[in-house]
Amino acid sequence: MEKIWRDGYEEVVFFYDRASNTHSIISIHDTTLGPALGGTRMYPYKSVEEALDDVLRLSKGMTYKAAVANLPLGGGKSVIQADPKTEKTPAMLEAHAKFVDSLGGKYITAEDSGTTRQDIDHIRKFTRYVVGTSEEKGGSGDPSPYTAKGVLFGMRACADKILQKDLSQCRIALQGAGNVGKHVARLLYQEGAKLFIADVDAEKTRAICDEVAATPVSVNEIFDLECDIFSPNALGGVLDATNISRLRCQVVAGAANNQLKNDEAGNLLHERNIFYSPDYIINAGGLISVCYEWLNYTDSKRDVLVEKIEETMREVIDEALKKRLPSYLIAREIGESRLQQHRR
Ligand code: NAD
Repeated sequence: MEKIWRDGYEEVVFFYDRASNTHSIISIHDTTLGPALGGTRMYPYKSVEEALDDVLRLSKGMTYKAAVANLPLGGGKSVIQADPKTEKTPAMLEAHAKFVDSLGGKYITAEDSGTTRQDIDHIRKFTRYVVGTSEEKGGSGDPSPYTAKGVLFGMRACADKILQKDLSQCRIALQGAGNVGKHVARLLYQEGAKLFIADVDAEKTRAICDEVAATPVSVNEIFDLECDIFSPNALGGVLDATNISRLRCQVVAGAANNQLKNDEAGNLLHERNIFYSPDYIINAGGLISVCYEWLNYTDSKRDVLVEKIEETMREVIDEALKKRLPSYLIAREIGESRLQQHRR
């Protein structure tokens, strides 16, 4: 609990509804730039403390993600303490939606792990403070293609500035061929990159490898592959000391959230001279896509913001090289300075 005031969270609200057995928390980290936006995560947390830790960490991450993506939005997140496979009910989503609504727009929700677009459509019936509903319902639909485009733009900056070549000359190892990974693979194929793909789902791996003329690799082997870019598009926490010691690339650039196990992992990559593209910069295309319906952006404004990921990545690379600091620290500095400009 001490963390809430020590780290300057604006508002953290707990909610319980007996009828639907809903236990939720909404964390609003910072609204300097605008209303706090972040998805609803449903997960079978073992305790309220575990749920609180997660929602605090995630909402703070959203503040920096929105700031670095130049969006007029703050950072927030909500969690529902329940197993999405066995405990999710329409009544639970309704209760949570009414909880979101009770904050009057200070917090805007969206899809996250454990919630689906159908859940978000259901939530929309009880609150207007939600984004990322289906296209048939007037929403922005699947954000994955935009996330993948952002990854492509971020990779272009890395290829040019770190590797001094273009993507057509790069060997790229993709971990994960899900919603985002498969789009990244298609975009890189169009660029002419040489691709290696590993997914735990053998059928997915085979299908996408056939489509983009990639070489299938096992989920273990992908870490040891000699390549230019290693692209994590599956799990969080994938960059730990063990995996980093195996990497034989010069750049890590992918869509997965929370790729660094901890700050030490960011330092290790820096020591090994591997440039790490900060995840919340390179994967911001998804956030840009879901929030543009809220901000009444046109399609072209959305596309410009996704393209801007390349410029921001170039800025991070320049600063990291100039200051000889790990890129994750530079990304934090950029986010912090954008917030400071508005706090004055
Ligand atoms: P997804 O579930 O569709 O895809 C993840 C894929 O990774 C699946 O195909 C799964 O089989 C595979 N996978 C799981 N463990 C693996 C392993 N050990 N090795 C190789 N493959 C493995 O999810 P997604 O929507 O594509 O998102 C991927 C990542 O990007 C997640 O970390 C997500 O949080 C992040 N992200 C997604 C978006 C978006 O727009 N969907 C936006 C920002 C960030």
